[in-house]
Amino acid sequence: MSLIYLDNNATTKVDPQVVEAMMPFLTDEYANPSSIYDFAKRSNHAVKEARGVLKDFFNAENEKEIIFTSCGSESANMAIRGVLNMNKNKRHVITTKVEHPCVLNLYQALEKEGYKVDYIGVNSNGELDLAELSEKISDDTAIVSIMYANNETGVIFPIEKISEIIKSKNKETKFFVDAVQVSGKIPIDVQAMGADLVGVSGHKFHAPKGIGALYVNSKTLLKPLIIGGHQERGRRAGTENVPYIVGMAKAAELATDHLKYEATEVKRLRDKLEANILKNVFNARLNAGIVNRVPNTTNIGFEYIEGELILLHLSDLGICASSGSACTSGSLEPSHVLRAMNVPFTAIHGSIRFSLSKYTTEKDIDYVCEKMPSIIEKLTNLSPFQDELEALKKLRQ
Ligand code: PLP
Repeated sequence: MSLIYLDNNATTKVDPQVVEAMMPFLTDEYANPSSIYDFAKRSNHAVKEARGVLKDFFNAENEKEIIFTSCGSESANMAIRGVLNMNKNKRHVITTKVEHPCVLNLYQALEKEGYKVDYIGVNSNGELDLAELSEKISDDTAIVSIMYANNETGVIFPIEKISEIIKSKNKETKFFVDAVQVSGKIPIDVQAMGADLVGVSGHKFHAPKGIGALYVNSKTLLKPLIIGGHQERGRRAGTENVPYIVGMAKAAELATDHLKYEATEVKRLRDKLEANILKNVFNARLNAGIVNRVPNTTNIGFEYIEGELILLHLSDLGICASSGSACTSGSLEPSHVLRAMNVPFTAIHGSIRFSLSKYTTEKDIDYVCEKMPSIIEKLTNLSPFQDELEALKKLRQ
């Protein structure tokens, strides 16, 4: 049975070219890049080159604005804590109700530490309430943290507009953007975005797990989370993870070359899958309307059936998809993102995210399109909500 991997928002396959770029630094080139002998020059040079690649990936002004981290969660924590610890007098912070747990749970911790926290809501299409955001920004707002695209629905937030709103209300408020789910899918341009800090994670764009990056513009000062050596200009101590840094830089180069493919081929396959399911399954509904979304993601609610059962049936056929985010699946709590969007209770538990990548083929999508209606029909026949399903069928016919 072949594997059909449609869970690329959870993690991606490492590109063999990335492995190839990393290999020398996992084997012969093991020197510490801070050492001064000749042997260390190649490691040192590799890290410098990678920083340059990441600068271009972010369209930053300067290599000094790039910090290597271990993952997207670390980038977010470093950005938010780093700014707050630099501005201890400011006690108000803003985020959205649909952030990844690495931001949401940090904000909940900040609330317990006495910060005033505002969580901005979204409408039923997953779009952010910009008027509410504007209303909440005050002289005391230290940082606003808003994701670029949502990991569950793929909905893209209008980052440029958001930064204009923030800066027009308070020039000193810092703006952190969690760009983990857009990297490799749409271009990232920190200058156009007007963001002060932007985080990414290598394993979402075909680098290995355990490496990330944070862009911090030159006007933003950070208190480091990890104190020690002088690495990363004193902003993150610890010997640089040379092979993974090199791997992420290679993945960033490849991702940039692939952006057009994402916008055309990956989007075409996603749209085909989505349209096919919505046409052939009467109790399917798209979670998120026809709004700006990353090209690889669709989130579909199957009414009156259990998402976990759908996933198990798909898994039996070698198809990998997910319900909610990888960090929250496994818990029985319905998705906080879909709840914030007011997705009907009847669909929230049966919601499935399919996320494609450059490795997804037409054959993969055709196979899922073929199998999905019979899986759903089987589970629908077992549902205890037969009257409701009959009424829904009549309504949608
Ligand atoms: N932010 C978003 C939007 C994500 O989807 C994820 C992971 O799924 C993260 C942050 C965390 O990234 P990492 O797993 O690299 O810590």
